[in-house]
Amino acid sequence: MANFFRKRKRTPGPNKNELKVMRGRDPHQSRLQDRFPSVEKLSIHFSFATDRGQLLGEEDRVYSADDGCDFRVECPGRCGSGVFSVEKKVDESANARLPVTELSATCAQSIGAGSSELCGCVLKCRIEMRFAPEPVAAPEPAPVDPPPAP
Ligand SMILES: [Zn+2]
Repeated sequence: MANFFRKRKRTPGPNKNELKVMRGRDPHQSRLQDRFPSVEKLSIHFSFATDRGQLLGEEDRVYSADDGCDFRVECPGRCGSGVFSVEKKVDESANARLPVTELSATCAQSIGAGSSELCGCVLKCRIEMRFAPEPVAAPEPAPVDPPPAP
């Protein structure tokens, strides 16, 4: 059989296997638009510092409608095992339609097996959300200022 149509099937971006791996990370992870239909875009800035205030690292994440809702971030501190999750805060902010939320949290993992010393790494986090416009019912009449007294 002649093979005239040798199309090159090379699409840019991750291949099927890579996508499978990416999707396979957490089968329970829902997409942003499924979980928070009112949120068009979500960005989170994480910054980590030691308990003495020394900066350990920063990370920016941007989530669009199609992205999975993974709001966990690993602690870069001495514990090596701590995980911060800002999921609850994202939940609250989305429900309250807050465009900007800031929070901080301290890692309470011990720094090693049998050690009573805690990691103490401090996460500072800024969550920004862009919301889809709410369906408007009837436009409210603009308030009329009373005429200035003579
Ligand atoms: Zn930690």
